[in-house]
Amino acid sequence: MRSPRFQHTYAADLPERLYSSPEPSSVSTPRLLELNEALARELGLDIGWLRGPDGVDMLAGNRFPADARPIAQAYAGHQFGNFVPQLGDGRALLVGELRDTGGQLRDVQLKGSGPTRFSRNGDGRAALGPMMREYIVSEAMHALAIPTTRTLSLVATGEHVYRETRLPGALIARVAKSHIRVGTFQYLAAREDIDGLRALADYAIARHYPHLAEVPGRYLGFLNAVVAAQAKLVAQWMLVGFIHGVLNTDNVAISGETIDYGPCAFIDAYHPATVFSSIDRQGRYAFANQPRITVWNLARLAEALLPIVASQAGADDEGFEQAKAAIGSFQARYEAAFHDGMRHKIGLFTEQPEDLGLAAELLDLMARNGADFTLTFRDLAHEVDGAGQVRNHFIDPTAFDSWAWRWRERLAREPEHAADRAARMLTVNPKYIARNHRVEAAIAAATDEGDFGPFHSLLTVLARPFDEQPEMEAYAQPPTDEERVLKTFCGT
Ligand code: AMP
Ligand code: MG
Ligand code: MG
Repeated sequence: MRSPRFQHTYAADLPERLYSSPEPSSVSTPRLLELNEALARELGLDIGWLRGPDGVDMLAGNRFPADARPIAQAYAGHQFGNFVPQLGDGRALLVGELRDTGGQLRDVQLKGSGPTRFSRNGDGRAALGPMMREYIVSEAMHALAIPTTRTLSLVATGEHVYRETRLPGALIARVAKSHIRVGTFQYLAAREDIDGLRALADYAIARHYPHLAEVPGRYLGFLNAVVAAQAKLVAQWMLVGFIHGVLNTDNVAISGETIDYGPCAFIDAYHPATVFSSIDRQGRYAFANQPRITVWNLARLAEALLPIVASQAGADDEGFEQAKAAIGSFQARYEAAFHDGMRHKIGLFTEQPEDLGLAAELLDLMARNGADFTLTFRDLAHEVDGAGQVRNHFIDPTAFDSWAWRWRERLAREPEHAADRAARMLTVNPKYIARNHRVEAAIAAATDEGDFGPFHSLLTVLARPFDEQPEMEAYAQPPTDEERVLKTFCGT
């Protein structure tokens, strides 16, 4: 049995004003509800130790191994468009960093671990439901091959938290390439802390974009790299129907991983204006707005970096133009990734001028006909061999028929054999997504009855989203009218 050997590069390399030591805080009767053993092994952790009393105490935030040095990280952020100069980890602690089996340095962070200097009016704690949601959805995203933080463990605290009602408390351990956010840079920029900005940018470059370390003008290079990573990430969300829900600048990781799963959800029936979050009354973070809002968020990063970009550019206006061009490059990068992905989703692996129109028309028909996003694309693969189910996902099936006629004409000009194409389509169009009604049902069973059966079933089925799992067929189905969940409440 071996306790983890944490590194602490964040605290070692960066100024103390970027973090604070936690106030001691413990929970009465921690119970390990779930351990992600595959991820634990990837991190080189000893599973026996993690499951033992010392491991559970660490995962509960009660007691840390001798070489852990937990910190709460400072950051700022625009929340729904309003700048808040100090947010920070109000209920999270970075326990330390571990080098994984692939050589990548990963943060291990507890979420729900008690008050910190950044808690403001919050209790520093989390309810079981939202922690289960983050576990389920982050692991589902990982299985879809979308960059994301992951979840190592779910621990019940044995205590209650008080939101609108009394709820069981829990915490998770979250694993990330880092927790550096757009808001971390904004925190320093708001304080006109140029030395801090340089130190943080150099640290982020070394950790995430090491090829830039020796490049002249590396801060501009860094901005461009983050823009590229975000463009790719958001395109991937849009290709699986994922809505993040709260794309505040403090929830945008500069690593390009999806982070901070709150009121997030996957779309069932496709509509671009879909909003799930109960606190997003204006639809700022609606599905179709995600690329636009990401550009806005990246512009906030550019503003924060401007002093150090300009100093490398030699002149302020030159730095400004370069930063502007970096932000301006988002759209083309995003479209390249999204259009490639859409072509593949409809089985087009070569490129023709009419392809984008064809894809756009399908989305438009889906929106007008209440078609299920996931099943429409999934069943297109079977359409290729003539099984013909897709039309049934449309309120007006003939709307699909006329589109399909032109689609088949276009497919005829693909060099690939139909069977190969169908097989390839099944690797980009998942069958199983984290459907909101299933997530809610799993949370309700656990919260109301202490039944974690549905939670385990969901984790199991979502671990292989592209594989047929006949015994799990029900999990592929959209909600019935009674099952439909209209809003995902933030209920943190
Ligand atoms: P989020 O909406 O999860 O991105 O959180 C926004 C900010 O509120 C972050 O600074 C969190 O640390 C903080 N926060 C959220 N919930 C709590 C809580 N229960 N106690 C203290 N801080 C919190
Ligand atoms: Mg956040
Ligand atoms: Mg959060």
